[in-house]
Amino acid sequence: MEALIPVINKLQDVFNTVGADIIQLPQIAVVGTQSSGKSSVLESLVGRDLLPRGTGVVTRRPLILQLVHVEPGDARKHEDGGREGEEWGKFLHTKNQIFSDFDEIRQEIENETERISGTNKGISDDPIHLKIFSPHVVNLTLVDLPGITKVPVGDQPNDIEVQIKDLILKHISNPNCIILAVSAANTDMATSEALKVAREVDPDGRRTLAVVTKLDLMDAGTDAMDVLMGRVIPVKLGLIGVVNRSQLDINNKKSVADAIRDEHAFLQKKYPSLASRNGTKYLARTLNRLLMHHIRDCLPELKARINVLASQYQSLLSSYGEPVEDQSSTLLQLITKFAAEYCNTIEGTAKYIETAELCGGARICYIFHETFGRTLESVDPLGGLGTIDILTAIRNATGPRPSLFVPEISFELLVKKQVKRLEEPSLRCVELVHEEMQRIIQHCSNYSTQELQRFPKLHEAIVEVVTSLLRKRLPVTNDMVHNLVAIELAYINTKHPDFADACGIMNNNIEEERRNRMRELPSAVPRDKSAGRGPAGEPPAGGADMEGAKAPSAGPQGEQDGTGNWRGMLKKGDEAPSSGPGSPLRGAVNLLDVPVPAARKLSSREQRDCEVIERLIKSYFLIVRKNIQDSVPKAVMHFLVNHVKDSLQSELVGQLYKLGLLNELLTESEDMAQRRKEAADMLQALQKASQVIAEIRETHLW
Ligand code: GDP
Ligand code: MG
Repeated sequence: MEALIPVINKLQDVFNTVGADIIQLPQIAVVGTQSSGKSSVLESLVGRDLLPRGTGVVTRRPLILQLVHVEPGDARKHEDGGREGEEWGKFLHTKNQIFSDFDEIRQEIENETERISGTNKGISDDPIHLKIFSPHVVNLTLVDLPGITKVPVGDQPNDIEVQIKDLILKHISNPNCIILAVSAANTDMATSEALKVAREVDPDGRRTLAVVTKLDLMDAGTDAMDVLMGRVIPVKLGLIGVVNRSQLDINNKKSVADAIRDEHAFLQKKYPSLASRNGTKYLARTLNRLLMHHIRDCLPELKARINVLASQYQSLLSSYGEPVEDQSSTLLQLITKFAAEYCNTIEGTAKYIETAELCGGARICYIFHETFGRTLESVDPLGGLGTIDILTAIRNATGPRPSLFVPEISFELLVKKQVKRLEEPSLRCVELVHEEMQRIIQHCSNYSTQELQRFPKLHEAIVEVVTSLLRKRLPVTNDMVHNLVAIELAYINTKHPDFADACGIMNNNIEEERRNRMRELPSAVPRDKSAGRGPAGEPPAGGADMEGAKAPSAGPQGEQDGTGNWRGMLKKGDEAPSSGPGSPLRGAVNLLDVPVPAARKLSSREQRDCEVIERLIKSYFLIVRKNIQDSVPKAVMHFLVNHVKDSLQSELVGQLYKLGLLNELLTESEDMAQRRKEAADMLQALQKASQVIAEIRETHLW
């Protein structure tokens, strides 16, 4: 079996690289009748005297003999011992005891057999486990079995025949077992119990090899020619005749080597034509071939596994990139690639389209139109502005004089206050876009520019540059957005076409309502004494404009001067010491008693004034909001997004593409260099393994 050692060793290397399970060599079991020479055959295959042999029932427990290959030099270092010789044995039942003397091993087998099976020919199915460590063996398991017997002797039970047969079948029914069916030449092959039992588990004879022993013991005048030619019983895998040592040889301690030499001489003399195809050596070679076939059968799968692994490692290795040769071009390339990816992510033309969430340009769009747009739309034009606030503002704007019209200044003040509320969500919009721009950096380095991960320093530097570029643009953009609101505040354009229209419609509505109310409350009419003061209003802005627009339609008894001013005066009058008949509601009025905004019933003039102001604010606010909703995204795009997009590449190159920085920036992470090396080594090992397999496939043992 030594011929297989190099092959198995090579395969072992392959297994070590690919982490595959070691190919399980078939185990070899001997079956046959008692004293047919089974133990002798096994022993000559191992090439060592270690099994008890003899006439009568000798093998009374199965012996599972595991051969373990050890490297010649390793014997002593081997964890399993091997203190003295190169070869040693160990029994399962003696734990760690090392047997370096094979005579002792044989003795131990006998002792152990007796221990379980007794001294009087008893048989046990409890196997003895023996491991032989040697540089001259392949990893292989041999099984020596008790012989088939018919008549119970000694302590054997009546059904000994059945028991032994069951025992044998238990071991040889394993499909991964090669059966050596041993029959002695001095018995009739046609009655071979060995072949009979072998056929039970291997009807096609795929794994049964017939061995004919005791060729030297044939009766005078007979020979085994017909048997050896396969004419008596054909056996698919072949039929091999051998001559083992006789009992006398055993007693004389004839060596295995001598026995083989004599066997060869015997065959040459007796069966010259068949000598080359019989004998222990030929049997060993045949077994080798069977084992080799088995190994070859296992190779395709192993080969496929190696190929898969090799391609995996190949792609892993290429994902790590080549070691840097031209630093400056690599740097430029990486920077350019990053910048391009960054822009692509914004433009939506990136190679890696994110499916889990919105990102890049799409997210910016979402921020503009959903987040920002919705927020603006949800801003109530009159939010934070109660009726009392409006009234108070009107009164404050009028100053000490009683006013005839709703003072325009109150509209301006109030509408500005409302417009100012648009600034905060606008600035928030800038912030959100800025955040997204920051996120894109991460996105690019994670998905698109994986090479960057090889160079943590460069990655860091790029992130730093982009971050600072973004940071630099933030105040500029914020200023612009702030200015957009400031611009709106700077000039309240009451001549804005949309606003003028709104005013016109509104006034008409108010007019109508008022008329309706008049009709319902005629008693209110006499109060309106002073007419026609409307046109005296202020310049064509704000409330005045509106009042002016009302005047013509109001006719001679224009309500504005009537109710409006009169009521207005009355309100001012609250502060005045007019404890006249009109003031019972208010009770005693103190000079120091400043009106406190409180819920109270409004007079209809107050209500109207409020309404007017509210409607104007609302209308104007909507115009401004539309403007802001439109112009803030534009400003953000121009001052932040596009600016960064356009200047990213040059900014990166300007800051990073410097001779002095090359080395530092392109330092690979330890980790990466290590990983690349490991992958390269593995790849090499796999290629070698695949080569080994190719070699083994072509190996011919003879
Ligand atoms: P087992 O019971 O089948 O294991 O048979 P053994 O190997 O113990 O052999 C039984 C006896 O036959 C032993 O005394 C052997 O020496 C002897 N024997 C086995 N093979 C041969 C052989 O080929 N020629 C001769 N002359 N004796 C043999
Ligand atoms: Mg035996």
